[in-house]
Amino acid sequence: MQRLPVSLGDRSHEVVIGHFEIDALADAIAALAAKNSGLAILVDGALPKHSPRVETLVAALRTRLPKVEALALTSGERCKTFSELEKTCEWLAQSGFDRGAIVLGIGGGATTDHSGFAAAVYLRGVDSVLLPTTLLAMVDASVGGKTAVDLNAGKNLVGAFHQPRGVFCDLNFLDTLPAREIAAGMAEVVKAGLIADAPLFERIEAETLVNPELSRAQLERFIADSVRVKIAVVCSDERESAGRAILNFGHTVGHAIETGSDYGLLHGEAVSLGLIAALKLGQAMGINDASLVARTAAVLLRLGLPTDLENHVDEEVLSHIDVDKKRRSNAIRFVFVPRLGETLIRDIELPQLKQQVLAMERSRR
Ligand code: NAD
Repeated sequence: MQRLPVSLGDRSHEVVIGHFEIDALADAIAALAAKNSGLAILVDGALPKHSPRVETLVAALRTRLPKVEALALTSGERCKTFSELEKTCEWLAQSGFDRGAIVLGIGGGATTDHSGFAAAVYLRGVDSVLLPTTLLAMVDASVGGKTAVDLNAGKNLVGAFHQPRGVFCDLNFLDTLPAREIAAGMAEVVKAGLIADAPLFERIEAETLVNPELSRAQLERFIADSVRVKIAVVCSDERESAGRAILNFGHTVGHAIETGSDYGLLHGEAVSLGLIAALKLGQAMGINDASLVARTAAVLLRLGLPTDLENHVDEEVLSHIDVDKKRRSNAIRFVFVPRLGETLIRDIELPQLKQQVLAMERSRR
């Protein structure tokens, strides 16, 4: 078990990573919620079908706390809408939760984003605690306090910064997670290595060469290392005024590809393509060398992630960059990795960015 502190003054908390017995998990959550007036559990609606741990945990929490209610959310990304958020807030009110309540979000990144945002806005803000159940949510979505829902105009366009009181990454949940979702989560781990932790990248590189199927022990270490990277970045710039932007490496083109695929690609799959696009762009601009592109593509491929930009990048797809939040007037703050573990941010004019990416793709054919 690893306890990683997130030091943010009165918003400080811990990310705890390990294999929990249900009773230990219930004890830990109940201890956090002991001073709250009630525990409102929001759970990905499909999760109990996959994992009996959810119901056992809810039952265990009911024996420990005086007021516990649970709501099944629409599963996955479809919970990240205003109408779903409204349903949750109505349910919180009808269930009698007051300002002393604490919301527990159990599920993937969509559920933790929805739950965190509901906690941020219900009665102008109540506490939250997160139990991420996908690899992507453990290494990324549940850490750092960003919460959001989507608009038709784009993903995550309405949200709030709202730090949880605690995050519990219970690796037992990964037993039921499909291999495709594990691979998608690993895209964010690779990103963490690229931007700030060269030894982490080199370990993924070496270990996937031996066997691309990662053991629980390997995953636990990768989760802890990438959560450490995210915590360090978030603690240096909680509200993304400057340094936190490096976490967006690969996401500018990645988000556009994700939207352009009509969400046929998983977030992590789109990020995998976005990492390659960013590195190829860096190569074309003389910022990073070709070997970093090749090494990264090889690692992502071994993990089962897409790396071939063909059929994923065209004018239409790149038009989705326009509503990306990284845009400042007509320029994009684009993150590059000049060398393994280092970052460089450059403002690029949007037309120039699109032209470069398209030219890169054309020259390849
Ligand atoms: P997700 O929440 O949609 O979950 C993916 C699928 O896995 C769902 O169908 C879900 O039902 C299923 N699932 C969840 N846990 C499971 C388990 N243990 N066993 C079997 N199935 C399980 O997707 P995700 O990839 O976890 O998260 C993506 C979301 O996270 C996106 O909305 C993205 O915007 C958001 N995100 C947020 C941040 C942030 O900083 N807030 C960072 C990265 C991503």
